[in-house]
Amino acid sequence: MGKNDFLTPKEIANRIKAKGLQKLRSYCQICQKQCRDLNEFKCHCMSESHQRQMQIFGGNPIHRIVVGYSEKFEQNFVDLMKRSHRFSRVAATVVYNEFINDRHHVHMNSTQWATLTEFVEHLGRTGKCEVDQTENGCFITYIDRDSEGYIPQNA
Ligand SMILES: [Zn+2]
Repeated sequence: MGKNDFLTPKEIANRIKAKGLQKLRSYCQICQKQCRDLNEFKCHCMSESHQRQMQIFGGNPIHRIVVGYSEKFEQNFVDLMKRSHRFSRVAATVVYNEFINDRHHVHMNSTQWATLTEFVEHLGRTGKCEVDQTENGCFITYIDRDSEGYIPQNA
């Protein structure tokens, strides 16, 4: 309780480091291109197509980009919950597997969350889902809200 839900740029930078730069570096989220290794990624970064994409981002510092992808990741994940699992309690890994089935999904390594558990705890803290940890893993239930953001009484 009382814990800030927003990460400072420094915290985000630390998380990126913690997750391993290797992973983050070999996937270009901006172009949605997976490179085999760092060398290929470096070549990719020199390519014209990548430079063009970077211009679109207008030299945003990395943490702004991470925040943007985190928002998109969360939005898409919650939308999927609402669409497919609106009235059921479901294992977080099941939803996640459906999520990454979409080949255009935002990769979690481009977000502020290092693990699925961390992300799911965020959903719980921000009141988007009910979260319960069991010995069979983490389960989530979408919290239905009306257009004003209130939880219907007999949901
Ligand atoms: Zn690129």
